[in-house]
Amino acid sequence: MEELTRVEVILNDMNGNPSCPHGPMLLFKRVVNGAERSFFACSACRDRKDCNFFLWADEKVTPNKKKTWDLERDRITPKINHVKLYKMFVKLLEKSPEQRAFCHTCSILLISNEIAKKHDEHDVTFGISEYLLTHPSELLKPLENAKKEAQYLFSSHATRTIVNIARCLGAMKVLCLGTPRVHELVCSEMSTEMDSLLLDIDYRFHQFNAPSHFCWFNSFNNYFFSQEEGAHVLAEFLQRDGGHGIVLVMDPPFGGRVEPLAKTVQEIMQLHRKLCPNIHTDMLVLWIFPYFMEPQVLASCPDFTMLDYKVDYDNHSLFASGPKGRKHGSPVRIFTNANPKDIPLPNEEGYRYCEICQRWISQENRHCTQCNECSSKDGRTYVHCNECMRCVKPSWKHCVTCNRCCLPSHVCGEFVPSQLCFNCGQPGHKKRDCPRFGFDAAFLIKKQPDCTLQLNSMKMCKKRKHTQNKIDEDEKQIFTNMSSKKQKLQNVNSKKSRKNIKKRKKSKSGANTSRRPTLQL
Ligand SMILES: [Zn+2]
Ligand SMILES: [Zn+2]
Ligand SMILES: [Zn+2]
Ligand SMILES: [Zn+2]
Ligand SMILES: [Zn+2]
Ligand SMILES: [Zn+2]
Ligand SMILES: [Zn+2]
Repeated sequence: MEELTRVEVILNDMNGNPSCPHGPMLLFKRVVNGAERSFFACSACRDRKDCNFFLWADEKVTPNKKKTWDLERDRITPKINHVKLYKMFVKLLEKSPEQRAFCHTCSILLISNEIAKKHDEHDVTFGISEYLLTHPSELLKPLENAKKEAQYLFSSHATRTIVNIARCLGAMKVLCLGTPRVHELVCSEMSTEMDSLLLDIDYRFHQFNAPSHFCWFNSFNNYFFSQEEGAHVLAEFLQRDGGHGIVLVMDPPFGGRVEPLAKTVQEIMQLHRKLCPNIHTDMLVLWIFPYFMEPQVLASCPDFTMLDYKVDYDNHSLFASGPKGRKHGSPVRIFTNANPKDIPLPNEEGYRYCEICQRWISQENRHCTQCNECSSKDGRTYVHCNECMRCVKPSWKHCVTCNRCCLPSHVCGEFVPSQLCFNCGQPGHKKRDCPRFGFDAAFLIKKQPDCTLQLNSMKMCKKRKHTQNKIDEDEKQIFTNMSSKKQKLQNVNSKKSRKNIKKRKKSKSGANTSRRPTLQL
């Protein structure tokens, strides 16, 4: 029998955890056939090639190891002088577009006639309009994995809808967690009625924002890279206007673990409550995430609801609607702790109000009288199965042999309720039928010579009924493609001198020979 391993994330008080360049590491528990061993690993990078800090929890940190780590952390973490960077931005604002330049290789703004020789062979954009200066997300290129479309950004339409939703919820301040486009729209067009603070792991936003408007932040461990300084900026922001009218908008990497993200949200909410004791309502949150992550989000945030609104992205066809996009529109939705009836969705896109559910639903959604809810989730109209007593995807058919709804292409009898899924570790289905197949699969680690350990969201299958079906083809495609949404996280590592980047690239190939588990998606 194959040996199975499961990995859980343990949400302890992270202050005592050892740190990697991305702040305190997360504590994970590995269970191999019932035997446990815990370890610390980077919270932000799923690929150990991107951050190789690792420590078994029962391993002693020798003074030597500590010294090496301190040096390495110091070497990797860029030194940022935010005030100085921002001064350059202000100076450039006064220049004409022809005089402005941005070096993508060094990730810095420059005055074009002052460009030193050293940028000669670099990738430099000249003639930067004021629009681009104030919308850096449209200027910056993904730093690493350019081939993989590393960074995904909301379409301008989705950005506007999200800001409108925040406005409907009474936002005077928007706290943007990894949502630069929302931040840019608020700052450039709505600054008279709203303010925004961007917290993002992409350090390049420093130079485009005043220190009061941007903090370099890791949302997986609630960590400010500038430490007290950043924490102070957030505290000041939360307390402004007596702490009223704050909406948090977040767009975390889809492949990341939900539990630590939810913990960060809860900690920010707690901080807000502590700083503003006169406010008796919770800070409102808009968490942008795929519909198929609903069980996980709800497991960590039980008072959240998933809205029908489909969030389009600019640079990824799978997260978009339209002729080039996914057939049933973007699979990305908004999860919120606000009352869904307070969130009207755009009429002109076919959204309408369901009086019974008291929320806005998408065009294709139908109210099922048996389930007593508008039951569609993936962009198609679900159909009710009387045998299963719930609504299912329209491509599924009820199979009398299996006594459940399945894709017609399934093989009867393969479903063995008592067997653990090789993919997610939950009982009730086989790996090939796992609802998490190909995406955040691999909670289970097959013991192989090179023991590859993939960390992902393992609570998924807990809530999801495990009489599940083989995943639909187009969903599978999304899952598979998700793994390329490595995005923002790696940018931290990329901030270093050109020399270091080159050095690292060279060393990459040999970096992974260690016998310790590799964290990757
Ligand atoms: Zn790290
Ligand atoms: Zn340069
Ligand atoms: Zn309804
Ligand atoms: Zn139904
Ligand atoms: Zn059925
Ligand atoms: Zn069957
Ligand atoms: Zn599974």
